[in-house]
Amino acid sequence: MNISINEAAAHFTPENESTLVFGEKDLVKLDVGVHIDGFIGDNALTIDLSNENGKLVEASEKALDAAICSVHAGAKIGDIGAEVEAAIKGFGFKPIENLTGHSLGEYDLHAGVEIPNVGNNDPNILSEGTVIAIEPFATNGQGRVSEAPEVEIFSLEGKLPVRMREARRLLNYVDENYKTLPFAERWLYKDFHSKLLLLAALRELVFASAFRQYPVLKDAGNGLVSQTELTVVVEKDAARVLTK
Ligand code: MN
Repeated sequence: MNISINEAAAHFTPENESTLVFGEKDLVKLDVGVHIDGFIGDNALTIDLSNENGKLVEASEKALDAAICSVHAGAKIGDIGAEVEAAIKGFGFKPIENLTGHSLGEYDLHAGVEIPNVGNNDPNILSEGTVIAIEPFATNGQGRVSEAPEVEIFSLEGKLPVRMREARRLLNYVDENYKTLPFAERWLYKDFHSKLLLLAALRELVFASAFRQYPVLKDAGNGLVSQTELTVVVEKDAARVLTK
């Protein structure tokens, strides 16, 4: 689960033994991925602890509704982005233009098709049977995210050769436990007891491109960000929501 707060749009999750608590006015995105045998559901909602940002939350919710209503086999992908953009701008906010929804494959969280949050001229169309996660992000900031230095989430890219013994052990451990799905650094401490060695192993595996890292993504203008996400199957005439 990603628990991204306020200006963080995605990819935050607490570090091991974190003492963080929610603030009274935090805008909290809960983005939860689950799978059965590699078949993934990816869903998110935003909770406004301040009770002051209801419109911002509603903007991403209504944008998701509009996007889902426009999904059917043969729909232009750029048109779905246009629906998201129009809905969010209708509330006076900006969509985050460099974050997208995505198709889902077996053990593959980002399986190739991107569902934009703004209109574009992408001529590609949705195919019947494709599973997609649609995830509008709305902000009162800049409408673009940039990478923060903090990284808590990784995934296996490829079983590439590495020299360090602890790195080889970590590579095999992740392959056995998480395959190609994202994992939190926090989860590893159960079986890797030296933080120093673990961090060195992680560093080597990222450097060797065996692991991909997911830096925390924040709105570039430090605006507040809301997110709503559902996983749907593209059917002939409509989207079938898999979870709700
Ligand atoms: Mn997603």
